[in-house]
Amino acid sequence: MVTVKSPEHIEIMRRAGKILGDTLRLLEETAKPGMTTKELDEIAYDFIVKKNHAIPSFLHYDGFPATLCTSIDDEIVHGIPSKKRVLKEGMLLKVDCGAGLEGYHTDAARTIAIGEVSPEKRKLMEVTKQSFFEGIKVLKNGARLGTLGHAIQTYAEANGMSVVRELIGHGIGTTVHEEPDVPNYGHEGRGMRLSTNMTIAIEPMLNLGGKEIYQLADGWTIVTADGSPSAHYENTVVITDDGVEILTL
Ligand code: MG
Ligand code: MG
Repeated sequence: MVTVKSPEHIEIMRRAGKILGDTLRLLEETAKPGMTTKELDEIAYDFIVKKNHAIPSFLHYDGFPATLCTSIDDEIVHGIPSKKRVLKEGMLLKVDCGAGLEGYHTDAARTIAIGEVSPEKRKLMEVTKQSFFEGIKVLKNGARLGTLGHAIQTYAEANGMSVVRELIGHGIGTTVHEEPDVPNYGHEGRGMRLSTNMTIAIEPMLNLGGKEIYQLADGWTIVTADGSPSAHYENTVVITDDGVEILTL
């Protein structure tokens, strides 16, 4: 069931989203060559739990063991932070995180360049982020999900990137993943109509090579089939009468 949130519940999500946006900014400023993904996970946990008294929404979700998903280069999403995973110059790190307050959750992700990255990786990062902003331009009360997916896909493919099909955005609220599904591809004018005060997480995942993916034996990490780098950018938004409000910047 797709739920429309009350103004009171949106205000709670706005507060949680602010904490999450600040968490991701802190990680963007902190992640450097030589650090481990486990260290970043601890920084995020401390910031969300100890400093802000919020809930790390991913920790123990479906058995996930960490506050952050940390995925590097050809890993698209759901990488598990580890003391053995050391950041190196030129890597593309994706951090995906959730923060909740009073039973309501928010979800967002960023791609971080570790030191200097190749021009191809830089372009992939920028196109992925911009595809989110191209997508939200078409959103408002009454807009259809297919129109959103079409806008993201058109921009991504016009810039030479492929769109992952199996992993998509989602409704969000009292749980991290709610209906509806929010694909990053689609047909203009098709799909469910969104309405004011629905809350969704929009999260383009774009690959420099082909769109095909597979899951590693750890049961979590998703990688590109051809080993090409991937980027991810996500925010939780609320639909308004004439656009969206982004809750997790
Ligand atoms: Mg999400
Ligand atoms: Mg996420």
